[in-house]
Amino acid sequence: MKNLVILFAGMADGGHLLENVFDGKCAFDLSLEWALSRKNSVKTVVLLNSTGVSEKIIERIDANSQKAQIAAVTKDAWPAAALIEQIAVLCEEYKADYALFSWADCPFLSSKLTDELVKTHEEYKAEYTFADGYPYGLTPEVIDRGVARIISELAENNEKNLHDSGCARDAVFSVMSGDINSFEIETILAPKDYRMFRFEFESSSRAGLLLCKNVFDAAKAKNISAGSNLDPVEFSDLASKTCGALKTLPHYYNIQISPSYNTKSLYNPYDKLFAGKTLPQMKLEDFKNLVKKISAFSETAVVSLSCFGEALLNPAFLDMAKEVLSYPGLSLLVEGDGLLITEEIARELSADSSRVYWIVCLDAANSEMYQKINGLGATEFSKAVSAVGLLQKYFKGNVYPQFTRMKENEEQLEAFYRFWKEKENPSGGQLIIQKYDNLAGLLPEQKPADLSPLERNECWHIRRDMVILSDGSVPVCRARADEILGNAFTDELPEIWAKLDKEVEAHIAGNYCKKCGGCDEYYTFNF
Ligand code: SF4
Repeated sequence: MKNLVILFAGMADGGHLLENVFDGKCAFDLSLEWALSRKNSVKTVVLLNSTGVSEKIIERIDANSQKAQIAAVTKDAWPAAALIEQIAVLCEEYKADYALFSWADCPFLSSKLTDELVKTHEEYKAEYTFADGYPYGLTPEVIDRGVARIISELAENNEKNLHDSGCARDAVFSVMSGDINSFEIETILAPKDYRMFRFEFESSSRAGLLLCKNVFDAAKAKNISAGSNLDPVEFSDLASKTCGALKTLPHYYNIQISPSYNTKSLYNPYDKLFAGKTLPQMKLEDFKNLVKKISAFSETAVVSLSCFGEALLNPAFLDMAKEVLSYPGLSLLVEGDGLLITEEIARELSADSSRVYWIVCLDAANSEMYQKINGLGATEFSKAVSAVGLLQKYFKGNVYPQFTRMKENEEQLEAFYRFWKEKENPSGGQLIIQKYDNLAGLLPEQKPADLSPLERNECWHIRRDMVILSDGSVPVCRARADEILGNAFTDELPEIWAKLDKEVEAHIAGNYCKKCGGCDEYYTFNF
């Protein structure tokens, strides 16, 4: 049977797919090498977006010794419907039995795994075949020619698929899932489930490129292949033990802009954690410089203003929130009591509403329990509940009432869930049930149930989060707030971040300090 390889390089900005960090080659070069090595292939087609990056890709194609085997299709934009239709058209044009489809910024496409996929696809006469349980980016999707046309028609039934400026990585499967039982789908399963590592071997972001580069370098140092003949299990195992793969760049900056609170919450660790220490309100100028450094270092990240304090108690809150949103790669998270939210604040931040997330801490289904947990009465409870509705008006889908689950309020968990889960209630059905955190034994144990996994993983927080206190100091994590790595106002963020490597290495080796050993936050994941 004949296949057609389709590489998607139609992302608007190209991300980092042309950076030569793999021994002088870039992610595009490597994905193209895999494409051109496919057996029984009638052609390799690269899908391009009409931007400056496309010109550079075309230059690379022209310089390739197998350029006669490569074609390119350029469009101004690739919403999901356009992408899937193009797959169908190309399969028909080249009389291919099926397409091998991948994004072109995946440097580690495995020929071994592709052979397995193709064998399964042909043997079982499947319409769509994919690999499950492996990290993203090791395999293409296999899409039958006939079914490509059907998926294309399905995609056209949805306005979003027709008009979005770009498509998601799971565009094909996502459209199919609307009528999943109509398709003959086959999978090959990874012998181990690597999904828990959340590895995505692709180079759209700075963090993604760094992940790929660090695994590539680790493979080279250990004489393990990272080329298209790589062994997917050996390669994924290597990544799962490599510090530079488990920890790339901070994805989540948890910043204390205010050290003050309105509530007197039972689970607030502030007095015990910072006993004898006076922390200031963060100054706007310091904050602006900090956000500039964050954007330069991480490129994309979520910035929370709510670490150990009520963000809205900082008089410069609004300017600080706007400062975060002035960087297109940054999103804003505000988690608090909701008591100071006003229509004006919501309106002022709503221009970038898709990048703003709100969490309102309620912890109760009625004012009596609210009083017990947060120390405030019925007026404040009602204000906090109203804040959810007010925010939802401006930030639809990004507002979450939160219930921190404790022995004290466990009896109201179900009532809270049932109320907020209803689509017609103020959050539109969104809510968060938050795990109680005793900060490595600092607070009394109030957890009503142990949800920790059977096998311990390397803590997500030292791999993805950076906590910054209002005086600029950066501790190891929230629980180890007295172990300061540096100052984010005066030190370089990469230098501070590198100091966490030894903590991650210790977790990889299964060695835990006293606090980490007694902490169960390692499996919780922010962003
Ligand atoms: S395990 Fe707990 S104490 Fe240790 S780094 Fe993670 S969050 Fe901090």
